[in-house]
Amino acid sequence: MASTPPPRAPREAVPGFEAGPEATGTPRRRAGRHRGEGQWAVGHFTPLNANEQFKKDDDGLNVRTRIETIYSKRGFDSIDPADLRGRMRWWGLYTQRKPGIDGGKTAVLEPHELDDEFFMLRVRIDGGRLNVAQLRTIAELSQEFARGTADLTDRQNVQFHWIRIEDVPEIWRRLEAVGLSTTEACGDTPRVILGSPVAGIAADEIIDGTPAIEEIQRRVIGNPAFSNLPRKFKSAVSGSPQLDVVHEINDVSFVGVVHPELGPGFDVWVGGGLSTNPRLGERLGAWVPLEEVADVYEGVVSIFRDYGYRRLRNRARLKFLLADWGAERFRRVLEDEYLLRGLADGPAPELPVDAWRDHIGAHRQQDGRYYVGFAPKVGRVDGATLAKIAELAAQFGSDRIRTTVQQKMLILDVPQERVAELTEALAALDLQVEPSPFRRGTMACTGIEFCKLAIVETKARGASLIGELERRLPEFTEPVTVNINGCPNSCARIQTADIGLKGQLVTDADGRQVEGFQVHLGGSLGLEPGFGRKVRGLKVTAAELPDYVERVLRRFEAGRADGERFAA
Ligand code: SF4
Repeated sequence: MASTPPPRAPREAVPGFEAGPEATGTPRRRAGRHRGEGQWAVGHFTPLNANEQFKKDDDGLNVRTRIETIYSKRGFDSIDPADLRGRMRWWGLYTQRKPGIDGGKTAVLEPHELDDEFFMLRVRIDGGRLNVAQLRTIAELSQEFARGTADLTDRQNVQFHWIRIEDVPEIWRRLEAVGLSTTEACGDTPRVILGSPVAGIAADEIIDGTPAIEEIQRRVIGNPAFSNLPRKFKSAVSGSPQLDVVHEINDVSFVGVVHPELGPGFDVWVGGGLSTNPRLGERLGAWVPLEEVADVYEGVVSIFRDYGYRRLRNRARLKFLLADWGAERFRRVLEDEYLLRGLADGPAPELPVDAWRDHIGAHRQQDGRYYVGFAPKVGRVDGATLAKIAELAAQFGSDRIRTTVQQKMLILDVPQERVAELTEALAALDLQVEPSPFRRGTMACTGIEFCKLAIVETKARGASLIGELERRLPEFTEPVTVNINGCPNSCARIQTADIGLKGQLVTDADGRQVEGFQVHLGGSLGLEPGFGRKVRGLKVTAAELPDYVERVLRRFEAGRADGERFAA
């Protein structure tokens, strides 16, 4: 694929590496005040925390052999704790929360007291691309090994729960037989590469990023040169003008643009991220042709590996390095030390026309057929439903299904004359092609049902909130996003929602500690990117939630000017 000079061979990602002037062609900058941040590029290879220690002790990828040969045969109790709570993530496995432990105990108990002997297993779905055989396999695995669970995540993946360690090798065998994997689905690794769900088919597409995603997968995923990063590394490639991969909040994103002289290519964004210190990504101002996206990705992930901060886990994302360096220096290091060539300057993407960027509804493709996007509630589906979706796709002549970053799905390649029939068949499964704005715009993370960090319940609460709002506000048609997190982390991107709800314990009118939410208002991506404001003192109990959201939406409706979209 590379028509340009190949990237440098990945540098040794183990202690002992010191990239000096001879390796880079430029004098190595000392990191000055960051000498204590554990950056490999300035010679700091001594682990400064327990995570860095277990990664140094053994590469996370190596745990697979132990799972296959020891743990799956001897059972849960045989698992080394450093593997159980560390390296198993490199293969998409997290222990799930023991049932019945309330949110008040989350911060009090030791990790082993929260651990159930079952696992969450994340299947990575790069670009959100699935075919019928793959979806059938996911559905079968869900029903056979995961008690029917199969949640759609907001990063285009599928997550199983209730997985026994004994079953993991067989699950891998079946996934890999159809071209899927759990490799580096979690852990301090290059996670799933987001991609436009309508890549290669959308009538308004600028450029199809699929070949770049495939090339990155080939070069980077499962490659030990990139399997010990300071923390997770999130990425996206989309040539859709809908800006449909939350490019503002990834570690690196490639966004389709048309260069006035060079034509269609990608604009590069780096250093976005949410969680407790949210930061929007910044443009490097560089235009990259399709053939060079993988080179630039490799350069950016290498900078993260070599220069990323490894002392404190809560400062180890790329966004902190970017905040200290700035985009200009970041681009210079990328060009001078990693690509060994300059990048062309390029334009910024245009703002999308639509507030919704989820591809819900029926839309005409380049080839005259249609893609049909549909909404389950808060990403909750199950194996039986996924099996039926696979059968519907096959029955309607499609072999292409897609997942989205809004916990939704698409079936591609539907003949125009069969769209209505498919819409009806999906509705019979409670999968709406024309959903209410509440169903369309509400997302929820895993929450206390399975997540060890959770303080409150999220999925059932989100589904019930949708039902309440549909009943109370049947006339409300404006796009609105409601994102629900079970704890202060931001797996459901609360800072980017019109109404963001951060799970915590709150005091109710009777003075009791109950499940509730800190409210963030006015966040958005796409049209006017910005983070929602934490409304000081505004906390609602879970029981008050429908009343509160209804009040906010009614207030908006009453005061809104023509054409104004929801912005609390
Ligand atoms: Fe778990 Fe918190 Fe993430 Fe929700 S936001 S999935 S509760 S870590």
